[in-house]
Amino acid sequence: MKHEKIFRFLPIIIICAAFCLLSFAMVGQQFYGSYAPSERVVDVLPAQNFEAPAARGSAECLVLVNSKEANSVLAWKDMEGLFSQMKVEADYVDVSKEAVPEYADYKRIVLAVADSSVLGEKAYELLDWVNGGGGFMVYFPPLGDVFFRALSSQMGVQETGWEMYESPGFRFKTDLMMGGKGKDFIIEEPYEASLSLSLSSDCTVHMVSADDRELPLLWERDLGEGKIVFMNFGIMGKAYRGLYGAAYSLLGEAFAWPVINGSAFYLDDFPSPVPSGTSTYIQRDYGVSVGDFYTNIWWPDLLELAEKYGIRYSGMVIEDYSDKREAPFAANQNTQRFRYFGTELLRKGGEIGLHGYNHIPLCMEGFDRDFGNGYVPGTYERLFDYDYWNSREDMRASIEELIRFTEELYPGVTAATYVPPSNILSSDARQMLAEDFPQIKAIASIYFEGDVEYTQEFEAAEDGIVETPRIISGCVIDSFMEIGALSELNLHYVNSHFQHPDDVLDEERGAEAGWEAMRGRLDEYMRWLYGAAPAIRNLTAVEMAGAVQRYYYLDVTQEITEDAIVLELSNFQDEAYIFIRINGREPENLAEDITGGTLTAMGGGLYLVEASQNRVVIQRGEA
Ligand SMILES: [Zn+2]
Repeated sequence: MKHEKIFRFLPIIIICAAFCLLSFAMVGQQFYGSYAPSERVVDVLPAQNFEAPAARGSAECLVLVNSKEANSVLAWKDMEGLFSQMKVEADYVDVSKEAVPEYADYKRIVLAVADSSVLGEKAYELLDWVNGGGGFMVYFPPLGDVFFRALSSQMGVQETGWEMYESPGFRFKTDLMMGGKGKDFIIEEPYEASLSLSLSSDCTVHMVSADDRELPLLWERDLGEGKIVFMNFGIMGKAYRGLYGAAYSLLGEAFAWPVINGSAFYLDDFPSPVPSGTSTYIQRDYGVSVGDFYTNIWWPDLLELAEKYGIRYSGMVIEDYSDKREAPFAANQNTQRFRYFGTELLRKGGEIGLHGYNHIPLCMEGFDRDFGNGYVPGTYERLFDYDYWNSREDMRASIEELIRFTEELYPGVTAATYVPPSNILSSDARQMLAEDFPQIKAIASIYFEGDVEYTQEFEAAEDGIVETPRIISGCVIDSFMEIGALSELNLHYVNSHFQHPDDVLDEERGAEAGWEAMRGRLDEYMRWLYGAAPAIRNLTAVEMAGAVQRYYYLDVTQEITEDAIVLELSNFQDEAYIFIRINGREPENLAEDITGGTLTAMGGGLYLVEASQNRVVIQRGEA
């Protein structure tokens, strides 16, 4: 009986003992261990090192759109976003207003029009042009217009009743996308977006619907000297960019585009004051206070994950959860936990960044009037739950205090990354940060559009600050985030994730499942990521900014000769990463068949080029 009791309480006794030891260690420790200011893997360069991205002159791609079709307008917007990221120069022609130019002037043509009859005779010329060697992409499924009825068989379509089909998700049949195969990607709100059809056997089907039907959603087919890539997916938006990018890269003998090559994990509100008291689920599962939970369970678990995958966390400091919005801002005297966690984070090669003196977004009254959602003139509706700041001076003083605080706690560290509280940032504050705090090199907010959130692209802004959006967040990586992560890994070769210590307290962020389950889900995501891209660079927040800056300014032109693919890089500084998909005649000896850089096979004909100079030559394999 007695033994049984001890056995029952053994886990708690062990936790208590470990906690006591750690507490002694922390209290007794004047010195929290040292960290060497780590050399940045890739640093942000002065903006003047780069030349403004130059227009290339003649466009390689013709995009046919129709401003009178709703889907076509969506596709147009998506493609402009995608092509600006892949540095594709394209001519967009609105077929409802403009004459269709000569196809012979282009290497690739994208058709984003549901009803091609508006093209008239030019529709039939398209396939002649493909036969002669052109690369043709159908961006979304067409209606059953006369043109498609006549020519669909040449695009590989064997049978179709012109009905639309609702795919619950998508599944890969090839290695087209890293991390794509072996897993179904579920669409949260599917609708009838794909054309019901069957294909001839000479098509290479890359993507199908994630159900028993396995409806072809993306295929390619050779036609004469050219190629057709057919996207029968029909769902668009920023989260799917990488799918369309991968499809586009199948056109032509090869296609190269600059990438970031970086994986970053942010810890928002860390270090920060720990909420006092207990939380239902922490109490339920561990029987300890929230503070003890973070010290003895959460943080060791996160460090274990970091160790396992080589992650280097970037912690974003909140000094005080007060609602103070007027200078002067009192220093938080309770610094022990800040020192303990921050020093540990730095010792493991992480980074300390700025989140806020408190958690009130830097916005003054009226900032969110520009956001359409819910705002009706005269009946102004507030879009967020915080108070406004009164002046730019107060906002500046709060950041000054935060910087003073971090410098006192972490000698030798210059915080260079700012994460806006709740990912909300006004343009006034953005300008203040750029003008008054030259040490801030990067702003890390979010990639996907929200209501009032500060939404970003991966780019260097005109004021010199590098925009480094976070793509996904939290421990509960849902199906939308899985798609976003897949898309971005394959488009930008990037992973960017943030979480908060208090995710584990918040029911909306999965708290009820318990930390054990949440940590398991996070581990599962990391396993997927590093399984798909084992060599991706683990970067901290400001290193990510350095990588994004180089990516943003880099441009690649490619020339394909009989024997080789020649890449000319503009704005090359000290390093550059490029994805190239080689469609046939892949190099046979990766070490020997490249000059000016190194070549790594990523599967599916995709290669990562790490350039060491501004001219890279890749030998083509045997035909
Ligand atoms: Zn926060």
